[in-house]
Amino acid sequence: MAADRPRQVLLWIAAVLFLVAVVGVAAFWVYAQSGSLTEKPVTPATTAPPPADNAGLHEARWYDKLADGMVMCKLCPNFCRLSEGQIGFCRVRQNIGGTLYAIAYGKVAAAHVDPIEKKPFFHVLPGTRSFSIATPGCNLRCLFCQNWEIAQHFPWEINTRSATPEEIIVAALQTGSRSIAFTYSEPTIFYEYMYDIAKLAKAHGLKTVVISAGYINPEPLEALLPYIDAYKIDFKGFDPDYYTRMTGARRDPVLETMKNIRKAGVWLEVVNLLVPGHNDREEDVRPLAQWVRDNLGDDVPLHFSRFHPMHKLLNLPPTPVENVLRARQIALEEGLKFVYVGNIPSVEGASTYSPRTGELVIERKSYHVTRNLLKDGVAPDGEPIPGVWQ
Ligand code: SF4
Repeated sequence: MAADRPRQVLLWIAAVLFLVAVVGVAAFWVYAQSGSLTEKPVTPATTAPPPADNAGLHEARWYDKLADGMVMCKLCPNFCRLSEGQIGFCRVRQNIGGTLYAIAYGKVAAAHVDPIEKKPFFHVLPGTRSFSIATPGCNLRCLFCQNWEIAQHFPWEINTRSATPEEIIVAALQTGSRSIAFTYSEPTIFYEYMYDIAKLAKAHGLKTVVISAGYINPEPLEALLPYIDAYKIDFKGFDPDYYTRMTGARRDPVLETMKNIRKAGVWLEVVNLLVPGHNDREEDVRPLAQWVRDNLGDDVPLHFSRFHPMHKLLNLPPTPVENVLRARQIALEEGLKFVYVGNIPSVEGASTYSPRTGELVIERKSYHVTRNLLKDGVAPDGEPIPGVWQ
């Protein structure tokens, strides 16, 4: 018996080590499933048969035909090369018989009438409604995607309703909307639909606004801008590695997009979602504010938005409110004239003040305008406030 004791001890140690290993592997698996480790920035193109009824098929713009029936999409910096049947990274552009098709044209996955402040646009037609639409798909893979139910699906995976551009215009006018917003998913990937609607909207006196991550190539952007009144760019963070890690996209094309929007004279507002511990430190926020000031101008509104656990980042806490307020303070210190906060209750951070005297111009609570002292784009102290006001 005494001679067996060392063997029993060894067996016990081996059993304990085995248990520790099992628990460790299980914990790692759970963590990985939370999204921090498993998300691949780029997935290969999917192959699928063309839609049975041809519904939603519309020849895409911005692509090249290559040898052997392949095509290369040039709409966004992903430059997908697709062979017969393959669908691009965005899930809504497919090579069918050597032609690239937008396969979700007119397939509306979401349509709502929203206050324009919800986009958020704070310098565009304050207090008005915006008829807001989206189709499925997206050319990014943001771990914190707020609209993943529509953005991260193929058109056949979710419910959509068909609507022609003319029907969208009629619906917008019937709801008393002053603008049409291309939003929720990523408007870049329903470019042809957005373009056709925007062109028609102009003819009916409606404004057009785009809420986008800005991952679009310069030529398609340039062709679209004459029909767009305002662009809101969801800029993810100033660190290029963070950008790719969180979204699967590169930062620099987005910087280029913002410069091009300004150059074209289209109204621009920038939103930066602050994710705790990832891009909400001073060394993340200050360079962004400096870049906006030096490259876009000190009168471009910059919004800092509070992160709430979402999609693949359910393991993170919400951003501390003080970090969002500190980001605003830093951007003001850097000389930006209009800096806002979102997703936190702050009347001061949601209201517009005259850069000349600091007097209140537009007061907002949540998404609602509670006071508007602006007259023809001019504050009560005589300071012109830039924006799209009529
Ligand atoms: S728009 Fe879609 S298909 Fe075209 S390059 Fe971008 S991800 Fe690829």
